Amino acid sequence: MSELTATASCTAYAAVVEASGEVVPQPLVARRVAWLAALASDLTARLVAARWNPVDLDALASGVGPDGRVLPSKGWMALRRLGWGVGPPSGVHVCDRVLRCAQEQAARALRLALYRRRLVAAIVATWPQATGARTGAEWDALRALLPDGVTAADIRNRTRQVRAYHDEYGAFPADLIELEEPPDVAAQVVLAAADRQLVTLERSGSRSARLRVRLPLVEFPASGRDWAWHVLPVALPPTVTPEATLLTPTARVSKGRVRVDLPFRIPIGVAPATGHTVGCGFDWGLNTLLAGTVGELADGRVISDGRPFTYDASGVSAKLHRLRAEREHLAAKHRHLERLLAGITPADSRYAALRTAWQRIGVEHERLCARFRNLNKALAWSAARWAVDHAVSAGATIIYLEDLATLEARGRRGSVNARLSGQMRGKIVEAIRHLAARHSIAVVTVPARGTSRYCPRCGAGTSILRHCPAPDRAGERGWRWAYCPACCLSCDRDWAAAERILARGLLGQNATRTHRSTGVRTIHAVVEGNVARARPRRKLTRAARRARRTRADLHPRPAARDRAKNRPTPKRPTRTLNNPINNLNDTSAVHSANNPADQAMTSSRVPDRRTVPAPPPTSGGQRPAGHAPKPGRHQPHRTGHVRNSHHRTGFHHAKATPVLTLAKHGSGPKQATPVRVA
Ligand SMILES: [Zn+2]
Repeated sequence: MSELTATASCTAYAAVVEASGEVVPQPLVARRVAWLAALASDLTARLVAARWNPVDLDALASGVGPDGRVLPSKGWMALRRLGWGVGPPSGVHVCDRVLRCAQEQAARALRLALYRRRLVAAIVATWPQATGARTGAEWDALRALLPDGVTAADIRNRTRQVRAYHDEYGAFPADLIELEEPPDVAAQVVLAAADRQLVTLERSGSRSARLRVRLPLVEFPASGRDWAWHVLPVALPPTVTPEATLLTPTARVSKGRVRVDLPFRIPIGVAPATGHTVGCGFDWGLNTLLAGTVGELADGRVISDGRPFTYDASGVSAKLHRLRAEREHLAAKHRHLERLLAGITPADSRYAALRTAWQRIGVEHERLCARFRNLNKALAWSAARWAVDHAVSAGATIIYLEDLATLEARGRRGSVNARLSGQMRGKIVEAIRHLAARHSIAVVTVPARGTSRYCPRCGAGTSILRHCPAPDRAGERGWRWAYCPACCLSCDRDWAAAERILARGLLGQNATRTHRSTGVRTIHAVVEGNVARARPRRKLTRAARRARRTRADLHPRPAARDRAKNRPTPKRPTRTLNNPINNLNDTSAVHSANNPADQAMTSSRVPDRRTVPAPPPTSGGQRPAGHAPKPGRHQPHRTGHVRNSHHRTGFHHAKATPVLTLAKHGSGPKQATPVRVA
């Protein structure tokens, strides 16, 4: 067993003063928590600003105190060892535990700065020769200097920052402090650094906890009498299971409410790196945000059940692009007004109006940024939850994804989904890792190169797919549909890529490497193999079993009545070895179930070829090829028909394959009929 740490954001709606039993309503308790947070963050800001210089950053980075001993891992202890104290303003009384909280927050901010400093130093040291993209060798040199687990988005953002500095000053920054001001300190109090003299936390029920904390009764407490113990009841969200261990939280005030960011630890099972038989493969799609498939490893072959999973976020993605454009527009306006303001004095008659407009646009910009951030985050978690739900429902023990580092180097551009940033994909991977860990499902990345180029059905990674606009336009060049001239495979290109990812993962399991410090699992070797599509064999129905046992006809023909019929109606030709003429969808295979010889001939293969071309787009906008039109619009509404067949994603404009528990792989619970999970 291992453990998973997560943070639940809870709200405290009221408090009770412990000594007097006085009930403190929400607005007042929020004010008192805000005073405490302001005291702590003021101390933190002064501490960080005082140490924002290369000498002190070097001292912290060295990891060794002035006495030659290694610095403690606890931030506040490390700062005390270095002798970096801070005191409250004169006349204000704060206990030593509040100073500890401030020092802890300062230590975290400074250690984060050290990380950014290492990134900037590595990027400056390996600055690319030519402007534009780095070459393969330059990437390798950069990766060698970077700390473990740096995302491509981080590298890109820091590279842009350094480039902007270089463009402005004509030289590279010597240190991070030339690039950035001391970081803004959030108004919060990191209670984890304190002890029983400032805070205690205990569970009061399976879904609630009691937070006891000493809060100031006035904005600037003058003595110990201005502090009092408050008891804050906190309701726990369902993600905090009863067996979770609660850790000391961080308190802050947001929108007039006391928010308690409560870390908790839950025991989870260990997902092994190898020995998996059922897995899911997901591709960063062009037609959809994510496309996936489930498959099984049997006798060294990968067999997929032929069910594609798609998560289409084009609507949300388009919204994100509109928000981004709007944000940049507002930022430009804000900068312009700032320039105008700098050119005039407050005595000018236009100053007041300009300043009001500048402030208003600043607020608007902030709000837009928050909206953009929240939407990004919600989409990432929704997609991750959907992917993990599919893996759980299919009984998969492993999820394979493309390696984002190799994906970044290749660069896909084009559709709305493909334009979603690498940062977004990084967030989805993180979220998938977190959610999968809760179900003991391993997440492993495989090389992205060639996943959508080669046919998953034949050639073992040598026959090249032809990409065309739609199944009935196989002769034209395009990018949404995949067609294999060698084996006539015709399917959505993202689906084909997901199958190839799955094959690379399941077949290359023995090459899985687990990173020593980050625990990230990767397969660097490319092991190619074909994926067969077949439905899992269904259990015979009771009637069919009886018919088989008694050698009776499962569907006896009614006796011929008053008809001049002197011979039996000849059977339709069934599909036999010598006569493979019938369509695979032919239902006559069922009629011959009584004959064991015939039954051996029925095929559970999923057709590789689309038998009809995709229906033409009906309403405004180009519909991705291969997607069924909305049910209910073209055909009359049937009883028992699911009106909205999409997974509930939490978005109006995100459409995803519903999570259904169909025929099972592996050892999941058996269910006879499809059950809607989400
Ligand atoms: Zn092929």
